[in-house]
Amino acid sequence: VEQYLVRIDEQRHLNAFTEVYADEARQQADRIDHKLAAGTAGRLAGMVIGIKDVLNYAGHSVRAGSKILDNFTAQFTATAIQRLLDEDVIIIGRQNCDEFAMGSSNESSFFGPVRNAADPNRVPGGSSGGSAVAVQAGLCLASIGSDTGGSVRQPAAFCGVVGLKPTYGRISRWGLIAYASSFDCIGPIANTVDDAALLLEIMAGPDDFDSTVSSQPVQPYAQAQLPDRPLRIAYLRDGVESTGVDARIREATQRRIDELRAAGHTVEPVDLSLLKYLLPTYYILTTAEASSNLSRFDGVRYGYRADTPAMDLLALYKKSRTEGFGAEVRRRILLGTFALSASYYDAYYTKAQQVRRLIREETERVFEQYDFLLSPTTPTPAFQLGEKTSRRSGDDPLQMYLADIFTVQANVVGYPAVSIPNGTDSNGLPIGIQLMAPPFAESALVAIAKAMS
Ligand code: GLN
Repeated sequence: VEQYLVRIDEQRHLNAFTEVYADEARQQADRIDHKLAAGTAGRLAGMVIGIKDVLNYAGHSVRAGSKILDNFTAQFTATAIQRLLDEDVIIIGRQNCDEFAMGSSNESSFFGPVRNAADPNRVPGGSSGGSAVAVQAGLCLASIGSDTGGSVRQPAAFCGVVGLKPTYGRISRWGLIAYASSFDCIGPIANTVDDAALLLEIMAGPDDFDSTVSSQPVQPYAQAQLPDRPLRIAYLRDGVESTGVDARIREATQRRIDELRAAGHTVEPVDLSLLKYLLPTYYILTTAEASSNLSRFDGVRYGYRADTPAMDLLALYKKSRTEGFGAEVRRRILLGTFALSASYYDAYYTKAQQVRRLIREETERVFEQYDFLLSPTTPTPAFQLGEKTSRRSGDDPLQMYLADIFTVQANVVGYPAVSIPNGTDSNGLPIGIQLMAPPFAESALVAIAKAMS
């Protein structure tokens, strides 16, 4: 704990933590010391982790990277976090993230941008940017993030660490501040696949507080073995052939494909005919869900309240939300409200739901023939701070949304996926490679990720 506290202090410029629980972590460490001596310590005894600022931890403030949760204190602890605490994890602090987990660069946080430790002029990815940098820079052993469209895997790729998004419903969402409820997943970020697998195992499983959690048995993921037969692996042809993907990333991905073939596995290209509909479907549905989820932040029930005459309720809502939410969150609430409005509902929301089903069916067909689907995690390595924010990209938010092209599919269909490090580019920037597996095949996913690490 002391060593991490020193490092956190030395690396303040990275802005990875929004709050550090120094004294509490020390006390927790003392308690665990006693438990270790008594032989009663849990399975995570001594593991020092950080948690993304969207996870409720009773008695601690939680802000979702936003001004609107000013002065708000969590009233209860997220199920996933409680299960880690029950196994004697030490929580060292709360990690910076994009506001309400909306973003791919960690630049939309009310607490300012996070910097990539490989190059502080570059972004760490988002939205779990603080969580990924904290592991990258040795500020904690592992982090717990959330992944709605890539927010665990994309920053893991940009920071050269492991990010695991489980199957939708594998881990309870109780206590996770909702962004898009039918996409949101809690997931670990760690230095090794083993650490990520152990954290997953402990967080996973049924929970009375979240009816969408599966009752499928949880497995000892870290002990998973690959089947004793050649694997069948599909790779996304565009990931290694499209000129829209950085040349070094294409090369690095191709090299892994060649290695897998040399090891006797079948590795074949697939084309997703619906690839171009992934981002539109994702952004219509997630903004729709977000506009509904975020309606609870009204200036009355939580956190920030604008100064308005007491008699004017509508003005209070309007002013609190205008002042409390940042530009990207407001943009998405407006987009989502539009997609759900009476005259456009069928044209956008219903249509996107239908396309979601088609994407799921197309993905299922891939997995009828293959064990895994491989692709780069991201089309480019970490970009410069400010490079894709509205001002510099000609006010085009789509530039940022394109960073998610390879990660959103797993959330649209609810499948598990992992990003592992795959070398660096000529500037020393980390590159990630992603593997996706069928629902609840986390054991196989962990096994192949370990074999490829
Ligand atoms: N970058 C994506 C978005 O902005 C994904 C975010 C996430 O997974 N939370 O929606």
